[in-house]
Amino acid sequence: MRPHATREEIEHVCERVREFGYKVHSIEGEERVVIGVVGVGDVTACLESLEATPGVENAVRISAPYKFVSREFKRERSAIKVNGVAVGGGELVVIAGPCSVESEKQIMQTAEAVAEAGAHMLRGGAFKPRTSPYDFQGLELEGLKLLRKAKQATGLDIVTEVMSDRDVGLIAEYADCMQVGARNMQNFSLLKSLGGCGRPVLLKRGMSSTLKELLMSAEYVVAHGNPNVILCERGIRTFETATRNTCDISAIPALNELTHLPVVVDPSHATGKRSLVPALCRAAVAVGADGLIVEVHPCPEKAFSDGAQSLPLAEFARMMRDLQPYVRLWKEAREEAAVAVE
Ligand code: PEP
Ligand code: MN
Repeated sequence: MRPHATREEIEHVCERVREFGYKVHSIEGEERVVIGVVGVGDVTACLESLEATPGVENAVRISAPYKFVSREFKRERSAIKVNGVAVGGGELVVIAGPCSVESEKQIMQTAEAVAEAGAHMLRGGAFKPRTSPYDFQGLELEGLKLLRKAKQATGLDIVTEVMSDRDVGLIAEYADCMQVGARNMQNFSLLKSLGGCGRPVLLKRGMSSTLKELLMSAEYVVAHGNPNVILCERGIRTFETATRNTCDISAIPALNELTHLPVVVDPSHATGKRSLVPALCRAAVAVGADGLIVEVHPCPEKAFSDGAQSLPLAEFARMMRDLQPYVRLWKEAREEAAVAVE
């Protein structure tokens, strides 16, 4: 629609679209409303009619297989709000915490330390996707309750993984942002039920998934009613064995061309080695990631999962300090980009 099109004009367009037998799916931006049209019908006639309808700026056919998440659908970048924190806005958002919630002491100590170091949200798995069925599977409900306690103590919003569509309702009660792990990126029944969960979703790239597949998965969540999706590059499988995965750093600028959704980087799972985490955080900031999700543990050698890639509390604090000059450049670049859009 044209900027500042009236409510009546928008309603009229929606009616026209329905008359052609399509479904309407609109996204309200700051200045303009974009009306998505999905379904089967006479495309050419519908496009022609809409172009002649008052208030319509233009009617375009989206060629990408993913529609709502594409840059063709929405030119401006989306800022996804997790309560008070906007991912994809003017702040580089840092999410930090342990791989797994292990005990009250561990999560409280970590939450307080990462909050003090400047993190914006707390991560921690209560339901863990483990390769071996004999490994620690997470504290489940007890873990969620401990996360809530940590939130009450620090004010940090909670990011935690949901592994199954059965658990969506339960986890949505405790999580401010629902994490979909790499192993579940194409769990389509999970993605569909997250469409109605009422919480933003942090969708991690599958370890052997293309960017197109990642965007198709994001499309599932949006098409099922939830536009609030944050993408996450967490490393992909390659022939390299020096690192746990290979961080696809080019995925960030590539995604920024293809989608309006924000992208965060997980340097912990991407490398599997704590010594490499600070350098990858700098790289992520330099290529314009919207945030970082970093594993932190009070005593990594005793961690139930992913100790080798977890930063001890003091190292995380130091990394956050050392990152500040890069964050300043990141902010300048964001401000310039915002001016260029205006
Ligand atoms: C995690 O965040 O702890 C995790 C299991 O990540 P991924 O799904 O990227 O492997
Ligand atoms: Mn982990």
